[in-house]
Amino acid sequence: MDECFICKTCGVQFAATTQTPEHCPICDDERQYIGPNGQQWTTLAALQTDYYNAIKPVAPGLTGIGTHPSFAIGQRALLVQTPTGNVLWDCISLLDAPTIAAVRALGGIAAIAISHPHFYSAMVEWSHTFDAPIYLHADDRPWVMRPDPAIVFWEGETQTLIDGITLIRCGGHFAGSAVLHWAAGAEGRGALLTGDTIQVVADRRYVTFMYSYPNVIPLPASAIRRIVAAVEPFPFDTLYGGWWDRIVAPDAKAAVTRSAERYMAMIEE
Ligand SMILES: [Zn+2]
Ligand SMILES: [Zn+2]
Repeated sequence: MDECFICKTCGVQFAATTQTPEHCPICDDERQYIGPNGQQWTTLAALQTDYYNAIKPVAPGLTGIGTHPSFAIGQRALLVQTPTGNVLWDCISLLDAPTIAAVRALGGIAAIAISHPHFYSAMVEWSHTFDAPIYLHADDRPWVMRPDPAIVFWEGETQTLIDGITLIRCGGHFAGSAVLHWAAGAEGRGALLTGDTIQVVADRRYVTFMYSYPNVIPLPASAIRRIVAAVEPFPFDTLYGGWWDRIVAPDAKAAVTRSAERYMAMIEE
């Protein structure tokens, strides 16, 4: 029986194979790593046995979905609820019956959009279950490990998903690294959902921007300027990073600018 194996380190699910894939290109890349015990694989069925998803309100119209205990990179996805349909921002590897029921009760999913390849996870499972297209930036196309007709590769700098929801390509961490702007978020002041394209740090007044987080490889000043310029036209007061407690508010836009200035002062002579 063919199986869509899941890499235990990055959580990305691969196209169906009879045997486990030889390696994970996403973890072989210098932005990720192979653990000390070598490349390891699991399956969705095994995850359904050993893990569960916590589904919790984050803000009005915004619900977090994250796997417990933490699996792979440990991100939590966000479901943005809008009058014209819900968008799942970023994705996780575990999808099970309780999660499907909970997401259906919240109105289902009209579209899935993902910040970058580290969070591609089991996106095709989610897409097929909720009959939702997956929006990925075309520049990251080589990193798709389970191709599917449901994947829409968007190009250029911005993509409107539905009314009030815009994807913004920032680049940096990956060429296609994107963020999601939610105009109605933060009670109409605007919210930015960033994954780790813009990473919220321990001091919640700041964010950072890295080529690799686990291997601590910084970005050049030119890339940081480009990220700041990409989000500049969009108003946002709250910034939601890719993990449960990684939130900057209020005045998140000033935090992005302040963080970029601090970073560039350290890397430029
Ligand atoms: Zn991997
Ligand atoms: Zn990443």
